[in-house]
This record gives sequence, structure tokens and C-alpha cells, in this order.
Amino acid sequence: MRKDGTKAEIAVGDADGDPVFMISDILPHLGKDQEKKKLSEFFPAEDLDVFAWTLDDKKEGLVKHLKKKYRISEDDLMSAELEIVPAGKPREVGLDRSLIAGYGHDDRVCSYAALSALLDAAKGKPSVTAAILMCDKEEIGSMGSTGMQSSFFENTVAEMIERQERSPRDIMVRRALEKSSMLSADVTAVADPHFPDVDSTGNSAAFHKGPCASKYTGGTSKGGASDCSPEFVAEIRRIMDGNGVKWQMAELGRMEKGGGGTISQYMARFGMRVLDFGTPLLNMHAPWELASKTDCHETYKAYSAYLRD
Ligand SMILES: [Zn+2]
Repeated sequence: MRKDGTKAEIAVGDADGDPVFMISDILPHLGKDQEKKKLSEFFPAEDLDVFAWTLDDKKEGLVKHLKKKYRISEDDLMSAELEIVPAGKPREVGLDRSLIAGYGHDDRVCSYAALSALLDAAKGKPSVTAAILMCDKEEIGSMGSTGMQSSFFENTVAEMIERQERSPRDIMVRRALEKSSMLSADVTAVADPHFPDVDSTGNSAAFHKGPCASKYTGGTSKGGASDCSPEFVAEIRRIMDGNGVKWQMAELGRMEKGGGGTISQYMARFGMRVLDFGTPLLNMHAPWELASKTDCHETYKAYSAYLRD
């Protein structure tokens, strides 16, 4: 954002023929000290600088380029949001082409399915108000004005009630939220045969079995969990099975090995019925993640059935 309020949109690497950036790594022949480090110390964040301009004119050259290409000054970088992400388009994986490797499946895979399902639902007439919320900052705790802990959704419901009712009252907002239900569309982990000791035997998600429901999330037993009511789980079972959706139920890994939370807890706080229900992934949080085509399609079918029924 420039000082005058105008905006420069920057996407380098998306178009064919675009340049990309690169982070250097040490030559293994010189890595005697590095190879002794623990994995948690191996990638110091401050050392992950990218090659963006290497010619002799260094900073002047880069600043000149930014000015020419995007009409931004060096100072404009103070009010910029720039992210470096793995470069490259998604690819089909395996001779059966059944998997898709891509950057950031978590959580574009569920978001895309949910948006498609909502747009489809809008063509018919859903019997209740249908919404999807795509929120930011989930990996760092859902804080801030764009995270799920913000009052955005609450405020939106309040705005709707304000326009709909003759004498709107705050209790109407609370009742509307309490009577709502939600699928928390976040990914879960597929059991990796290379790491069987972190599987919850018989309780782990697998590829090609459809989206995965988790009655509760959390780590090391139910630490930080949001536990869905058995009544709502049963209702979702009815909707999924009644619409021929292929789906599975699992936990995220072996109980004492870790775990993870989702945003479901922040909506459950309103008394809302919430179930975690999303596409299973292998390689979650790695630069390239793996999803099954079948699971992507069944996730879309699941969200459609939910919004419709
Ligand atoms: Zn994640």
C-alpha cells in the first residue's frame, strides 16, 4: 500500500516464464558442523533470505526495478505484505494419477470445495441461511481481525438481524449463533506407512476414502479439544450416507504423540454445533502436500450435501 492509499498487486512466479526466488543451502562437503545439528535447529529463520537481485548494482538496481515495475518506493515496503511460497504448479502424482502434489493444500483444498458447494447451494434455495467463512492466521492461533477469533462473523450476523427485524435485540444474535451448525473445514493427516509409530491403529485417515470427520481434535488426549456432540455427529452421518458421500472418521495420529487443534472451538463457544470435517492430506505442512483426487471431489460432495440438507 502506497501512502496515498493506492495498492500494488505483486505476484512473481505465477505466470509461465516468470522468474522465481531461491534460498541457498550449504554444500554437503562443507557441512561437517551443520550435519551435527538437530532438525529443529537446522533451518534458522533469519538465514532464509532469498536471492532476489544479485547483479553488482545490488540495492539500487532492485529499488529501481520495483519503482519501474510496480511504481513502489523502498519506503512503500514498510506497508507491504509479501509472502515467499514454494514455486510451481500442482502436479499429478503416481502412474494412476490419483494424487495431487501442491503447495498449500492446507487449507485451499477445503476452501475451494466449500466455495464451490456454496455457489451451487445458492442456485437452489437453501432452507436456512448458508455461509462459508474463509479465515486467515489459523496456523498462528487465529488471532487478529482476519482470524477466526475476531468478531467478524458475530458482527455480520448482527448486521443481518438489524436489517431483518423491526426491533432487533442483542439476544437475537446470540440465539441465531447458538442455533447454527458448522462443519469446520480443515484438513487432517493421512497415516504415512513410513511412520507407523505415530498412527492411531485403526483410527487413522487413509487416501481415497473421502473427507474425514473428527469428533474431537486436540493433542495428547483431548488437550485444547473441541468435542462435537454425539447428536450432531449422528446428524452428519445421516446427511452424508443419505447423499451417497464417501467419508471416513479418524483421529489425528497416536494420542501420546501429539495432535492439533482447529478453529472449531471458536464457533463452539457460541453454543454452535461444530464438527471437524475436511480432506485428509499426506505431507501436511511440508512445502509440497499430497491430496487424493477422490477425496477432493468427495469433500465437495460432502459440503454440498451439508449446505443443502
Ligand atoms: Zn495446518
